[in-house]
This record gives sequence, C-alpha cells and structure tokens, in this order.
Amino acid sequence: MAATVFSPQKLAGGPRAALPILMYHRVLDGFDPLQAEIHQAKVMDTQFRTLRQFFQVLPLDEAADMLMQGRLPPRAVSITFDDGYRDNHDLALPLLRQHGLNATFYVASGYLNGGLIFHDVLVETIRHAATGTLDLGIDGVERLQISDMASRIAAIRHLTKAMKYLEPGRRQQLSTRLLETLGPHAPRSLMMSDEQVRALSRSGMGIGGHTTHHVILSKLTAEAARDEIDSNRNTLSSIIDKPLTSFAYPNGKPGIDYDTSHVALVRESGYRNAVSTLSAVGTRQASAHELPRFVLNETTTIGVILRMLRMTAYAI
Ligand SMILES: [Zn+2]
Repeated sequence: MAATVFSPQKLAGGPRAALPILMYHRVLDGFDPLQAEIHQAKVMDTQFRTLRQFFQVLPLDEAADMLMQGRLPPRAVSITFDDGYRDNHDLALPLLRQHGLNATFYVASGYLNGGLIFHDVLVETIRHAATGTLDLGIDGVERLQISDMASRIAAIRHLTKAMKYLEPGRRQQLSTRLLETLGPHAPRSLMMSDEQVRALSRSGMGIGGHTTHHVILSKLTAEAARDEIDSNRNTLSSIIDKPLTSFAYPNGKPGIDYDTSHVALVRESGYRNAVSTLSAVGTRQASAHELPRFVLNETTTIGVILRMLRMTAYAI
C-alpha cells in the first residue's frame, strides 16, 4: 500500500481545516443479505455516539459557511442522508434526536408517497426472481443465473452496472415494466411521505434537493436538467414551507454524473451549497457547490476516530 499522509491538524479547525461530511442512505433494524452495505441501526448508534463524544456535529449549512470563512471549529463533522427513504424518518431521526445531532436529508421528491427508485426496483426484482435463468429481455443485458444469495448479489451488481447509465427515459420504461412484473412484491412504503419529510424539517433537520427523479444530470439536456433541479426544489420547499439551501448531485461523481454546467445550474437555482460523492474531505479551497463526502462503515468507536484521521489524507 502506498504511504498515506495524515494531517490531523486538518481536524483542528480554523483556516486550514477540512470538513468531514458523512453520507448515509438507508438504515435497517436488521440485516438484508442482499444489501449488506446498508447501515444497521445499532452501528449507526455507535457511530453517532462517537460523533457526539469526540466530534462536533454541525448542520451542513452552518459548517459549509464556516469552512468557507475559515472559521470551522475543531473536529467539526456534518451528517447527510440521500434519497428520502422512510427508514430515515423511522430509524435515523430517533437516533439523531437521542444523541442531539443534526443532519441534512436530500430527497428525490418524485418518489415520495409510495414510489420506488430504480435501484430498489432492481433489488426487489432479483430478490423475488425464481431460481433458474432470468431473462429481463433488455438489449445488451445478458441472461442471468439465479440460485443462491451469492448469485443474487452478483446479479444486482451486474444489472446496476449495466443499467445505471441508460438514457433516463428508457430507464424509466424498464423500471415501470419491472414493477409490473413484481406486482404485489413491490414495496409500497420504502420512501417517505410528504408528512414524514415535514416531520424531519420540524425536528430541525435540513431538507435538501436531489432532483425530482434521481436522474444522472450528465445524461440529460440542459433544459431537462434545469427542470429536474427546479421542480424538485419547488416541490420540497412547498412541503416544508421553507426555501432549500443545499443540493446533492444524484450518484454524484464529479465529471461523470454531473459537470461544471450543472454546478452553475445549481448555483443559479439559489442553492448555497452542494455535495458530491467524491470520497474526500473539503477545505476552504474546495467549491461550496461541490463539497466531497464519504461513507462511514466503521462499527467501533476507535474505528470511527481512526477513519476520520485517515480521511485527512484526502483533503481537497
Ligand atoms: Zn441518491
């Protein structure tokens, strides 16, 4: 392994500081063997306890402003959740409140109240696929052998890769067709309701934009991208009756999932800051509209602390 240069002083606050922004998606009470990457509530509890004891969790807007002004306090961290899953309201919110922490939730508003994001349609399709050969009848996607859990995990990985970057209209068509096949197996309340988004907001949590249909912006025309950003912002701000201040690029890889034209759109749209999925920590040299984030998978207090220190080697 290449030598890594830690810079713990980046966690000491002030003008040279970096801001670790954590990126969560779902949280489960148990374990889903098909989606081992999902955080379990007990792990999140340990992580939050560690953050409360050893770090200073700040609302993202506040932290981003302080970062840019060079006055971040020592050991500052911000917490974010993407997509708008109902478990964010049911499980993450009580944990945040119990530990007295704040987080920002980025919501793809087109799936609120019973919708499903494409990735979850895929996961549920594979979960319920019968043993044998699965032919989804999609050009360029080979037939898959479905049997045990390992084959299903491999199938999800393969399909996600094959279908993530399809033209959005075509991806939507496929999603509708797979949903019809799923029928009664399609989960009906995986995402939040309007009321649950409102409840997060009323609890003092931040609600941020994430486009209406969780689209990969680089796959859209400029006009369609603007529409996805603006319609999402209008919907969410009318649900919570507040202006939105922060945005997360869907999928979020700089230069792949969005480019500088989308950064300009987001800025023009009135967002004060935005986050990507580049796995790093941002200093005041970073753009306030492209702050990097990382996923915290460590399950112990010492693991979390070491990870925070390790991430200082990836300051941008
Ligand atoms: Zn997302």
